[in-house]
Amino acid sequence: MKKKLLSLSLVAVMALGVLAGCSSSKTEEKPAEETEAETVEGTGEKYIIATDTVFPPFEFTNEGGEFVGIDVDIINAIAEDQGFEIELQSLGFDAALLAVQTGQADGVIAGMSITDERKEIFDFSEPYFDADVTMAVAAGSDIATYEDLAGKTVAVKTATNGADYAKSIADQYGFSIVEFKDSPTMYQDVIAGNTAACFEDYPVMAFNIQQGAGLQIPEGMTAAGTQYGFAVAKGENAELLEMFNTGLANIIANGKFDEIVDTYTK
Ligand code: GLN
Repeated sequence: MKKKLLSLSLVAVMALGVLAGCSSSKTEEKPAEETEAETVEGTGEKYIIATDTVFPPFEFTNEGGEFVGIDVDIINAIAEDQGFEIELQSLGFDAALLAVQTGQADGVIAGMSITDERKEIFDFSEPYFDADVTMAVAAGSDIATYEDLAGKTVAVKTATNGADYAKSIADQYGFSIVEFKDSPTMYQDVIAGNTAACFEDYPVMAFNIQQGAGLQIPEGMTAAGTQYGFAVAKGENAELLEMFNTGLANIIANGKFDEIVDTYTK
């Protein structure tokens, strides 16, 4: 994607000036428009941002059929603050990560935890949200500890750090694991009694329970604290990452960030 910029005419490249080194998805299809958009504040570039499908309160479709959430509002507020355009693609978590790795998308915002392992393949923004991983069980279940999972099957979501965490303790507690592509399907499997528990990010599980999901969090069952960050492929889209960080600092300073979080959590 980045390399495509080289295909711009020399004139266009000169017009881009100092921005010539940056990545753009838009240049792939319409290099001509690219130069026009440069004149306003920011870069005016359009970036493809990948996200999850159903991960409330971070991204989800509300009753009015709009795709909303903390991540959605944050990336839009930052884009506005920094003067760039975004095209949000709701792909699912593992698909979103893959899209960025393969250059199909420029960045990912999906309640994505900053981990050392991921830092090998992604560059992360400053953290913007704290999230522990928690075990959750069907409402009324008597499963209360990891020991209770012995001989049982546990549901996890593909490519998440909740899945990694469950895998890291599976042998120790003697449970097996089944993977799901998205959070709602994983919850349903637990509610249906096919699996004894699932592992999910605490803020997401708490939100779903508050919204009436038939699940509960056994006491003391949160662990593996992480922080969420916006990510780009390692070594790519440095300018986008920088704008994200600057915009994030700005919306934290002007109160917009808290306003967004409050909208979804109060
Ligand atoms: N925070 C978790 C992770 O990064 C889950 C993210 C998600 O499911 N969208 O792995």
